Amino acid sequence: MAWNKLIGLEREKSIFQKIILENKLASAYCFLGIEGIGKDGFALEIAKTVNCQHPIISNDTISPCEECSSCKMANSFKHPNIQYIFAQPAEDKSKASAKQELQETIKEEIKEKLGNPYHKINIPNARQINISLIRNITKHLMLADANGHRFVIISNGENMNVEASNAFLKTIEEPMERTTIIITSSHREKILPTILSRCQQFYFDPIKLEYIQQYIIKNYNKSEEDANLIAAISRGSITQACEYLDDNLNNLRNNIVDLLRISLKRKNYKEELLNNIADITKKKDRKLTILILELLLIWMRDAYSLIKTQTSDYVINKDLLNRITPFCNGYSKCDYLAAINEINDSINLLNRNIDPQLAYISLFIKLRKIFLQ
Ligand SMILES: [Zn+2]
Repeated sequence: MAWNKLIGLEREKSIFQKIILENKLASAYCFLGIEGIGKDGFALEIAKTVNCQHPIISNDTISPCEECSSCKMANSFKHPNIQYIFAQPAEDKSKASAKQELQETIKEEIKEKLGNPYHKINIPNARQINISLIRNITKHLMLADANGHRFVIISNGENMNVEASNAFLKTIEEPMERTTIIITSSHREKILPTILSRCQQFYFDPIKLEYIQQYIIKNYNKSEEDANLIAAISRGSITQACEYLDDNLNNLRNNIVDLLRISLKRKNYKEELLNNIADITKKKDRKLTILILELLLIWMRDAYSLIKTQTSDYVINKDLLNRITPFCNGYSKCDYLAAINEINDSINLLNRNIDPQLAYISLFIKLRKIFLQ
């Protein structure tokens, strides 16, 4: 990995390169921000840069050389000074074969992560960072190369259970020389406040949508229009954008626009609306029900911007203008912002495990009120 493998994050890169150049790294950081923007990759890049034997320095930037033995070790996750910790399944000591299998999976996942900083490490049943992983940190720190700068990177720190968090607290309460601990998380609220208060909290911005669009076109051979739509529903997360690559977005988009049309029929809409909602939600696929509402959200924003600006410059679904324009003409005086808020609220509820069918019914009743009042 190199800095340029991390898309965007110009502000973050410039701040941390300056900190590295001035040798002012703190003993503990918490990197916060939405999932899938490269926080772990960023932390690993800092660790590699600081430990590089021949860093490339020009003006206010510093990059790892990628050639020295330290960079090579870092690039294969074998650097004695860099520990990367993430959730693992509860240990099952009874089966040696299972243990071996787990080690293989971990190796594979790390390899993936090396090639792609946006890869989401996926280990079956891995939900927690337990105390044994935290105890290992101290052990490793003792054994690490005292000449370099030691890094402990804890991915998704919210996964530390209470026991692990308390053990970890002791580690950061007694900072060691030339040692930096970096916790990454997209769920600040789930981290112990006592841990947060001992770290410098640093917020990462979501990735600019135009960068995500370019990334999708370059890496996944998508058309400009498809990439634009994927970027628009990604909420600034590359990992999230990549999860939508295989979905048939055009079909889903038509389905949701049809559903909106049905819900706004003056008469005889109930049965058709309920049947359509049942159809969409019957698979019990929460991710899909969220995706469909994200598409509705973009459509609604398009309609709003068309009315507000009287141009299609900001419209994402340009290929659907033949449907959006008549919709705007028919509902030009409605409260689009209220509709956008309602859709956003429903997405949030779905993320918090509310029943999809209920969420959909309640949303479309509210939209009906907004548009037909
Ligand atoms: Zn190097």
